[in-house]
Amino acid sequence: MPRIVFMNDRLVPEDEARVSVFDHGLLYGDGVFEGLRSYSGRVFRLDAHIDRLWASALAISLAIPTTKEAVAKAVNDTLAANNLSDGYVRLVVTRGAGSLGLDPNRTRNPQLIVIADTISLYPEEFYEKGLRIVTAATQRVQSAALSPRIKSLNYLNNIMAKLEGLQAGCVEALMLNHKGEVAECTGDNVFIVRSGRLLTPPPEAGILEGITRNAVMELAHAAGIECRETPLTRYDVYTADECFLTGTAAEVIPVVDVDGRRIGTGTPGPVTSRLKADFHRLVRA
Ligand code: PMP
Repeated sequence: MPRIVFMNDRLVPEDEARVSVFDHGLLYGDGVFEGLRSYSGRVFRLDAHIDRLWASALAISLAIPTTKEAVAKAVNDTLAANNLSDGYVRLVVTRGAGSLGLDPNRTRNPQLIVIADTISLYPEEFYEKGLRIVTAATQRVQSAALSPRIKSLNYLNNIMAKLEGLQAGCVEALMLNHKGEVAECTGDNVFIVRSGRLLTPPPEAGILEGITRNAVMELAHAAGIECRETPLTRYDVYTADECFLTGTAAEVIPVVDVDGRRIGTGTPGPVTSRLKADFHRLVRA
């Protein structure tokens, strides 16, 4: 069965979902995107994802040629058209087709694309036993150069770090900022647990403010677990009691080894397990 894709204002079969070779999204990575998930027919935090898409677009001076309500409807319609109640949605807005120069003013027709598919998850074993990750030599792009808070189509920085992780036999890699502080992983945010307290780098550390991250911070608060945004070094991670990652696709996933250092007991800890279970309950509620 061919997938059905939403392009601009209508649903079309995937073969007809095409963008121009002159689209600056392709030529320069000039565009923004979101990754969302639906659970039992309901998109988790749809409004938050759409708000972040709008914020990313504003930051790159890209006017999305429709309303937030229309985009929300397009997401739900695309899931329905593909008979997906548990699925992954990719929302993309490109700058549109233009001349072979950087000038965004010489583009027209920004493209709004909504793709819905089944979600490919990490193997269950990783959730039970925890991930092994390494620190990438590739630093997170500095906020003053390109804010990591913009979820742009320019993901090469993360891809370079992901390659390093894969070369080391790991599915994720830890990224540091230009000051050598812990920022995040290539597609996930990072948390540690120290003396029962949850710690995670602040937005100023050069991270994407993850929607899963925010949900986990709320869950921690509700569970009476103190949570602080604070700059972290690799020393903090190596000596933590627990470590885990959060992301739309990964949800909450334990990390038990970083750069060959065993974290805590080397098995997923109680705070991680609690928040992982609470998150499952939240998204399936
Ligand atoms: N950091 C980066 C670099 C990401 O691309 C993502 C999304 N895959 C995240 C963190 C997690 O964000 P969210 O919880 O909103 O999916």
